[in-house]
Amino acid sequence: MHNSDACRYLLAENAFSKIIIYEQRNAVGGVWNYTPLPSNKHETVNGECRQPPSQTAMDIVTTNLPKFNTPMYQGLETNLPDTLMQYSDTPFPEGTRLFPTRETVMKYLEAYAGDIMSMIRFNHQVIDVRPTSSDEWHGWAITTKPTAEDETKVEKFDAVVVANGHSDWPLLPEIDALDAWSRKYPESVHHSVSYKNPHAFKNKVSPHPAPRPHHQSNLTPFRLHPPH
Ligand SMILES: Cc1cc2nc3c(=O)[nH]c(=O)nc-3n(C[C@H](O)[C@H](O)[C@H](O)COP(=O)(O)OP(=O)(O)OC[C@H]3O[C@@H](n4cnc5c(N)ncnc54)[C@H](O)[C@@H]3O)c2cc1C
Repeated sequence: MHNSDACRYLLAENAFSKIIIYEQRNAVGGVWNYTPLPSNKHETVNGECRQPPSQTAMDIVTTNLPKFNTPMYQGLETNLPDTLMQYSDTPFPEGTRLFPTRETVMKYLEAYAGDIMSMIRFNHQVIDVRPTSSDEWHGWAITTKPTAEDETKVEKFDAVVVANGHSDWPLLPEIDALDAWSRKYPESVHHSVSYKNPHAFKNKVSPHPAPRPHHQSNLTPFRLHPPH
């Protein structure tokens, strides 16, 4: 579920003298961090509003996403039972419901990371990873940057685990004229990375079957009013 599990397993193998986790956010939990949208984002699903001709559908669906947005939404309950989601060495607390809420999963992940917190460099982004070697040593050069600063730092390691997830940024399907449509009706095209709750969609209809909200390439145009 998160890079802390890789760290705990490497620690158990006792194979490395030093392990560092770089995490660009200020918290563990990855995708299970709920990130609210700015209050003006997708409050309404309404009329025509021409956008600058250079804007793409990607520009429009990613406008105003908060820094390190996650697609986690209000009211999410897991789509797997707790016993399938949990790590084999750490059950969810007794009394956890069969399909836990996102808050329960977040608490579980925070507890799971408890004893490795000192190894995590929060607010640090990895910006480059490449193999490097000398006559005696083969390893990896990792370039990182504190998220609030510009200065980068290069460090060398024997091994690297990449656990950066893949759900934060949208994939858009290739649809003819999607860019032109999005420019003309920017409030009518939504991507599930910015879905937080159903309020803006009340009384709207979708021409497609309802998508699974957390599928990465979900992009749904909405009609303004139900057909008569
Ligand atoms: C809405 C939604 C609902 C889901 N529901 C379920 C469910 O019910 N059950 C289930 O089993 N799975 C579910 N999943 C799947 C979920 O993706 C996995 O459960 C799991 O949390 C993914 O973990 P991960 O470590 O691969 O990625 P993430 O949780 O995304 O963690 C990656 C971490 O890497 C950090 N990172 C990324 N790039 C960098 C960088 N360059 N430098 C430093 N840090 C970086 C990120 O900040 C993040 O903390 C759901 C996913 C979504 C989006």
